[in-house]
Amino acid sequence: MTRRKAVGLAFVLLMPLLFAACPRNNPPPRPRAAISTSSRPAPTAAPIVAAFNGERAMDHVRKQVDFGPRPPDTPQLAKTRAYIANELRSYGLTVSFDEFSATTPQGEKKMANIVGEIAGETKTLILIASHYETKYYKDMHFVGANDPAASVATLLEIGRVLGSRKEKPRVTYRLVFFDGEEAFCEGWDDCGAENPDNTYGSRHYVSQLHARKELGNIAALILLDMVGYKNLELGRDTLSTRWLQDIIWQTGRELGHGKIFVDREEGIGGDDHEPFLSAGVAAVDLIQLSSYPHWHKADDTFDKISAQSMKIAGETVLASLPKIVARVAPKEKE
Ligand SMILES: [Zn+2]
Repeated sequence: MTRRKAVGLAFVLLMPLLFAACPRNNPPPRPRAAISTSSRPAPTAAPIVAAFNGERAMDHVRKQVDFGPRPPDTPQLAKTRAYIANELRSYGLTVSFDEFSATTPQGEKKMANIVGEIAGETKTLILIASHYETKYYKDMHFVGANDPAASVATLLEIGRVLGSRKEKPRVTYRLVFFDGEEAFCEGWDDCGAENPDNTYGSRHYVSQLHARKELGNIAALILLDMVGYKNLELGRDTLSTRWLQDIIWQTGRELGHGKIFVDREEGIGGDDHEPFLSAGVAAVDLIQLSSYPHWHKADDTFDKISAQSMKIAGETVLASLPKIVARVAPKEKE
């Protein structure tokens, strides 16, 4: 009841803005022409809130795979970055880049995290993230359809759905696409304990949040990593924050995906949520590692991915957000 009133008031207050060429309400035409429109809902006169579209996510996977292997500091990753940024802008999100230089076992590499923001009524931040580069291999044509193209695609669709909503959200959402998650050396810890050869982008982003005194505003990080496999099954990563994981797993089951959100433990060693956990931020990783047979192999290709799997992961995250917000951003407005 009170929430409805608040929403109505917010709408009235926002009315002038709605007519002032707000990009969220007047998204520019989509730059891509070659996309099949057959699977999209027919446009209606009334403004519609977008629903997660698995076929659009498949298009995003195909596009990334077509760029070829996409390790850090390559023209292929630059193309991927431009593609992601253009998509986010077309959904009305505010895009920025967190650029930096990383010292790696292969020397200095230019990297850039991509951030798409939807401003909310409060400074409270919920981050939803994926890495977007592929692991470097000297002798393997590795295109990473699941690792990470499918999680990037899912995150883009989540961004489109969130960007289509008319009401300003209570919290601010940031979609973060990390560069440099993968190790340059074969193994995660093969080349350095003091200077880790992994999670370059997420570690840099956390350091930036710390420098800008924003860390305290972050209520939760939801990380997607390998969520597109045809035979999707997500076990519980043992590092993740339990209450946050419980909300998502419970929501997945309520949506009828009990066979996907299972209770077995998923031991992963580390991922982009770790720097956040170390900084005291609640974080959860949705990852299918142990039961994805094509992990870090040349056959991590488009044919392993399904629209349905990405839709399940994306819809579950979207449906979990109100519950997470209710927990982390109670009624106060600022
Ligand atoms: Zn990987």
